[in-house]
Order: sequence, then C-alpha cells, then structure tokens
Amino acid sequence: MTPRLSPTPAPSVPLDLTALRAQFPILATRVHDQPLAYLDNAASTQQPLQVIQAVSDYHQQYHANIHRGVYQLSRNATRMHDYAREMVAHFLHAAEPVECLFTRGTTESINLVASSWGRAKLTCGDEIILSNLEHHSNIVPWQMVCEATGARIRVIPIDDSGELDMDAYRRLLSSRTRLVAVNHVSNALGTINPVKAIIEEAHAAGALALIDGAQWVSHGATDVQALDADFYAFSGHKLYGPTGMGVLYGKRALLEAMPPYQGGGDMIEQVTFEKTTYAQIPNKFEAGTPHIAGAVGLAAAIEWLEGVGFERIHAHEQRLLRQVTERLSAIPGLEIKGTAPQKAAVVSWVMVDPPIGTLDIGMQLDLRGICIRTGHHCCQPLMDRLGIASTARASFGAYNTEAEVERLADALAEIVSVAR
Ligand code: PLP
Repeated sequence: MTPRLSPTPAPSVPLDLTALRAQFPILATRVHDQPLAYLDNAASTQQPLQVIQAVSDYHQQYHANIHRGVYQLSRNATRMHDYAREMVAHFLHAAEPVECLFTRGTTESINLVASSWGRAKLTCGDEIILSNLEHHSNIVPWQMVCEATGARIRVIPIDDSGELDMDAYRRLLSSRTRLVAVNHVSNALGTINPVKAIIEEAHAAGALALIDGAQWVSHGATDVQALDADFYAFSGHKLYGPTGMGVLYGKRALLEAMPPYQGGGDMIEQVTFEKTTYAQIPNKFEAGTPHIAGAVGLAAAIEWLEGVGFERIHAHEQRLLRQVTERLSAIPGLEIKGTAPQKAAVVSWVMVDPPIGTLDIGMQLDLRGICIRTGHHCCQPLMDRLGIASTARASFGAYNTEAEVERLADALAEIVSVAR
C-alpha cells in the first residue's frame, strides 16, 4: 500500500492559524477559567481531529488482533498496521519499512538497542559516547548495559550556550568507541545538534551512531539515509500522535544481526521446548500484540503533518522563538538558559532577581491558563553542568500563536513585579 499523501502547500503560504487551531478541540478549552495557552509541546503535542478520528474509527469499525487472523476484520487491521509502518518509512525516508520497528516510545527504542545490540556487542574496555545534553532515557539504558558488560561512557561537553564542543567530541573518538548516541535536539535547551557531522565522525572512527530524534521529528523533515544514521528513535506523542507509540529505525543489516529484545508471540518462526527460531525483522523485535490503534494514530499524525508542511511549520515556529526570546530577554532578572544559534522553538529560563523558584513560576502561570514545564526535564547531568536544579521551559508547536507568546511574557513580567 502506498502512503496516502495530500499535496503539501507551498512553503511561502503562511499557516492559517485559525483554521489549524480549529483542528485541535483541546485548544478551545479553558483552564482556571482562562483560555488555554498550551506551551508544553516538548513534553507532548496535542492531537488534531484527523488523529482522534482515525483512532476512534479504528476502535469503532476495524479493531481486531492482527496477523494470522483468517477473517476479514483481522486482515484489514493487519493492513492498517502494515500501512502505518509504510507511512513511518516514508516519513523517515528509510530504505524499507522493515527497518522501522514499532515500540512504546523513544525510551523503549533506546532500551531495545542497549539491551539487544549493547549486550551482544559490547565488552570490557569498549566506549559509548553520549553528550551532556542527553535526556535520562539516552543515559540510563547505557549505564545499565555498561554495568553488565564492563564498557564505559564518555561524555561530549557543552559550552555555556548549550552547544556541543565538537573538538572535544573528536578527541573522545578512538578505536575503543563502539557507539555514539546523541539527541538531534535538546529537550531542555532546544539546541539543534549537528547530527550529520556527528554521525560522519563516528563512522570515520569505526563506531555506530544512534540519534534520539524525540525533539526533532515534529519540527523538520527527517532523512535517515541522508544522515546515514544507524539507529534513529522517536515518539508518536511528540509528533501530534498518540502516547504509547514510538519507532526505532535501524539499518537492515544491523537489525538482522541483533538478537531479539523480548520473547513471546509474533516474534518467532518455530518454537519447540528444545529450541526457538525467530521471525524476520521487524517481527523479531515486536513480541506480543502491538499497539494497533497507536500505529493507526501515528500514521494519521504523519499524514496531518505532511499536509501542513514542515517548511511552513519551521518558519512559523522560528518566528515564535525569536519573539519569545526577545520578550523574555527584556524582563530584568530573567536568565535564558540555552542560547545556541541553532535552536528548535524551546525557551528555558530561571528567575534570578528576584529569585523565584521554577515550580512557583509554573504554578502561577497555570493559574493564568498557561501550561509550561518546570523541573530538570529528565536532564539532571545537564542541570548539574549549568549549576542549577531546574528551569522553566516553554516549547512551541505548529498551533501556537504570537498572542500566546505575549500572554506568557506579560504574565511573567507581572509575576516578577509582584515579587519585587
Ligand atoms: N529523548 C528526548 C530528547 C526527550 O525529550 C524525551 C521525552 O521528553 C525522551 C527521549 C523520552 O521520550 P518518551 O518518554 O516518549 O519515551
């Protein structure tokens, strides 16, 4: 089945935000009797009607367990699941759909590689390179595999703006490096990392590269072949799709050589009590009944995104980023954390004068209907590097507006003036 794609509008056609927002029923709700300003898109994006409807239609008309069903309902559900994989392959520009595994999310995708590839391939003395910008889900699985194998973690440092120190990276690479695992975009600071160069350098040193794409995929087109990524992970719920649904892309030869991650139904070819042989990829890595409705929703989210067009989304989000950076920088005593030149539409800050805790800021904004995230953003080593415990973070998506940026900035200015 070829992916159904509606024609993407020309990049020069600006987003019609009124029409676009009307596709997200939740955006019309009120919080504390205030209109909702949803600025926590790096945590989870909201879902358009196209996704909600596709999942609802699936539940109402098509639900059945997939694979091996001889009846039409099951065969149709299998086709919908297969179609979602084709859609993902198209979205990532993977060479073949079988290179796209369905998982519960980025976290599980990385754990899959760490458990399967890591435990099979790593030995004492081997090194894995991570960066100081990583989310815990791209740190802890590697620590677990290092404990089991005797491999060790090296860390690419960052400068004060939140950019990776590429010279230090090159110095870390050696014949001991087996894998470089970095995020495409930092969830805490928004830094867009030079992943193509990182992958090239890793390959030149004879290592593989895994990219955590959780914070990139909703902001720009992804081409795993052009990047030459060995593994690429992302989550559906940060892409205007459902939770509990994610993807691990892996090059065919690597996936074929890796042992299964979990055992059970659907991932086998033949089972006897003496020996089990495994199915081909992708089934080898997808034990048990999958999240079929999640796959249907993910495919609908990709269709929706491609219908809107990444170039238009990028232009809009970058405008919001410039506006919010300008407005927040003008608030005395507010310090923006993460000022790299290449950033996704994420702004993180702390209030130093007067000192106002980030939790307090988040709660006060909530009372005004504004949703942001506060805390360490699952990046405690990054917070340690910045010498802080937490930040307040606003992160923007395709449906956010300049008026919402104004509301955020005005509310912060008011919170600060009351605290002075
Ligand atoms: N990596 C990054 C950069 C993230 O921002 C997140 C979630 O915030 C994750 C990984 C984990 O994603 P999930 O919780 O969907 O598995």
